Formats: sequence, C-alpha cells, structure tokens
Amino acid sequence: MSRLTEGLLDLLYPPKCAFCRKLVRDRRMLCPACERSLPYPTKEGQRQEISNLALCLSPLYYTEDVRRSLHRYKFRSAAAYYRIYAELMAACLREQGVTAELVTWVPLSRKRLRKRGYDQARLLAEEVARLTGLPCEQTLEKPVHNPAQSGARSAEERRKNVQGVYRAVTSFCGEQILLVDDIVTTGATLSAAAEVLLNAGAGEITGLTLAKTPRDGMG
Ligand SMILES: [Zn+2]
Repeated sequence: MSRLTEGLLDLLYPPKCAFCRKLVRDRRMLCPACERSLPYPTKEGQRQEISNLALCLSPLYYTEDVRRSLHRYKFRSAAAYYRIYAELMAACLREQGVTAELVTWVPLSRKRLRKRGYDQARLLAEEVARLTGLPCEQTLEKPVHNPAQSGARSAEERRKNVQGVYRAVTSFCGEQILLVDDIVTTGATLSAAAEVLLNAGAGEITGLTLAKTPRDGMG
C-alpha cells in the first residue's frame, strides 16, 4: 500500500484501538492505555498443557475487551486486527524462548471460509511467521463442517465435536511445528488438529493462540 493510499484510508477510516476502539495515532491499533492494562497472564500463566502438544502459549486472557475484540475480528470483518494480535503472539514466543521450523494454523471449513471471507487463524499464522522469519504453510484442511465449538458446553462435548474433522494435506519428517489458532478454551480443537499432524509425521508441536480462557487446568 502506498503512503498516499494509507493516508487517505486513515482519513476515511481513522485507526482505532483493536481492544477499546478509541482513536489511535498509528495503524498499530493498540492504544497506550490498553497496552498497559490488557489482561496479560504471568510468564508462567502464558503456558498451558494440552494433550498432543508440547505446550500451548497465549499472550492474553480471554476476558472483556479481548472477547469483544476477537468477536469483531471473527464476525464483523475487523480483519486488520490480525497485525496487532500477531505482534502480541510473536512477543509471547520470544519471551518464552520457543522456536519452531514451520508455522501452520487450525483451518476453517470451506463452508465457514466462504461465509466469513477470510480464515482468521491463517492471517495470524502468516503474520506470526513474517514477524519471526519462519516459513508458513497450510498443513491441515477441515473437510467436515462441524457445529461451532462455542455451542458445545462440556469439555467432553467439545472433544467429540472436533474428532475426525481435520485432515493432513502434507506429510512431515519430525519437524517442530507452531500451530496457530485465535483462542484456546479446553484445548479440544488444538489437540485434535495436533493429533492429525503427529500422525502425519510431525515432531514436537507448540500451540500459539492470542487468548486463553482464565480457567487453567481443563486440558
Ligand atoms: Zn485501547
């Protein structure tokens, strides 16, 4: 995008903070107040254990402003938020000293992709890869259109809802993989996706999401 185009876009659509929606001066979309006060977990709190993953990392808790922000990102086409989200995610990786050989994401089904117009996890994965200098590749597809995880209540329901919905589109030779998604709740989705990657020959898999629910220890 040229400087002129960006300037015109700023006039037409002044950049707003992705979290509180106050006007901000640059396209980073994070106001100083939110930068100070977002619901950041401690360094230890960023980490979560999920089956089939070596570890899952998240720079934010899924509370209030984060929940509303992600909702706009997913359902109201605030697609530009991916930049600030990925910046927070890449910073979390650096803080934890975690590296990988390949970045990939938990994909949407084709049906949902058509409806939404973009794959929110793919945008995050590609930007995290750009910021960390790692390659990014689609490794999974979702041929089955299952009901949204938010509709499934118990951990057991969530686990069953994502069983068998992902398929590997590539094979691996023990690569260390960074598996990106927007949010982790019980971990059922990431775990199901990681299982498919492991069966396709992947090595260690680290999950990376923007946000996690504050209840730890639900697996
Ligand atoms: Zn803000």
